[in-house]
Amino acid sequence: MPRSNPLLWPKPPAIWGYGIAVLSVTTALILTQWPALRLEAAPLSLFLLAVMFSAWFGGVAPGLLATALSTPAFYYYFLPPTHSLAAKPEEIPRFTVFVVSLLFVGLLSSTQRSATESLRRARDELEGIVQELQSANEALQTESLERKHAEEGLHEAQADLARVSRVTTMGELTASLAHEVNQPIAAALTNANTCLRWLTRDHPDLNEAREAASRIVKDATRAADIISRVRLLFKKGIPQRELVDVNEAIREMIVLLRSEVTRHNITVRTELATDLPQVTGDRVQLQQVLMNLIVNSVDAMKEVDGVRELAVKSQRTEREEVLVSVSDTGVGLPPQQADQIFNAFFTTKVQGTGMGLSISRSIVESHGGRLWAAENSPRGASFHFVLSTKIEAKE
Ligand code: ADP
Repeated sequence: MPRSNPLLWPKPPAIWGYGIAVLSVTTALILTQWPALRLEAAPLSLFLLAVMFSAWFGGVAPGLLATALSTPAFYYYFLPPTHSLAAKPEEIPRFTVFVVSLLFVGLLSSTQRSATESLRRARDELEGIVQELQSANEALQTESLERKHAEEGLHEAQADLARVSRVTTMGELTASLAHEVNQPIAAALTNANTCLRWLTRDHPDLNEAREAASRIVKDATRAADIISRVRLLFKKGIPQRELVDVNEAIREMIVLLRSEVTRHNITVRTELATDLPQVTGDRVQLQQVLMNLIVNSVDAMKEVDGVRELAVKSQRTEREEVLVSVSDTGVGLPPQQADQIFNAFFTTKVQGTGMGLSISRSIVESHGGRLWAAENSPRGASFHFVLSTKIEAKE
């Protein structure tokens, strides 16, 4: 409702209302007495106007005051014999009609005024509420922006922490990784010597030399592959969302950790489902989870006698999820503390950081999945995680 609507102007102070009542009745009287205007025959209309205006402008009391002032004026000036205050019994009906009309119009006008007042107050309250809502909305928007920034910062910090932990774990595996790269390089060297021998004979055997050369290519490619996978794990980058072949990620991780596993006389068994759907996620982060779980399994089996077997399985669940399990025949989950292993900084190892499982769980959860641990039968521990293939993963 526009502010300029005069009906919605606020009620003036009471003194103004009474002033207006006196002024309007006086004006009405003067107009009736002004011969040039020829209004002496219409006193009722003019007094009605004065009362109506006073009641509308000031409310009930100014309306009554205008009525009270108009009544003697009408009696004195317009009821015959005019200009006299003497009793005029024959004019009683006309006088009564005059007074009742004035009271009625004054009442109507003041009622309308108070209705308008309520309307104005309601409008003002509404405007106040709208303003409050607007500022609440602005505050909410600022808060949500701040929260978004904080969440972004948290995600970045988590990604940095994950990378630091990845790099640390890989640092611990340097010897095994170097061995894994050295093997194909050593093989390539042997094959290069063989190739040279076949070529430098009196009668060079080109076929044998070609075969040795293609073995060199294969070995060099293997070494280059391992180096590029390791480099990927070291790389700093923002988390990606791409389609990941989980079986391939498992196989690659097993290749990288093979030396570490064989160093501790551990055999690896894989059972990878052939019909596994791809998942949407960050390949490097998912490989980090696998790396953490496998390295923990190796740690758990290092000291145990008897069978040392690492089993890595992948399967498709009924709910179209991908379930990955890493099981070992190690020492088993720490007794009485199994529920704490996912807590940050919880470790039972002398050199442990206690960050591996906590980071792994947050990575899996950021992919919309779950990671949990269980006892393995007859010995050791099993870690399982599911990744959703349907629902869009959380950012
Ligand atoms: P860290 O390896 O630095 O100790 P983690 O968060 O990776 O940190 O692991 C926390 C703890 O969980 C380990 O110290 C160990 O007690 C327990 N744990 C993890 N994996 C296994 C496992 N495969 N078998 C037995 N205990 C495990």
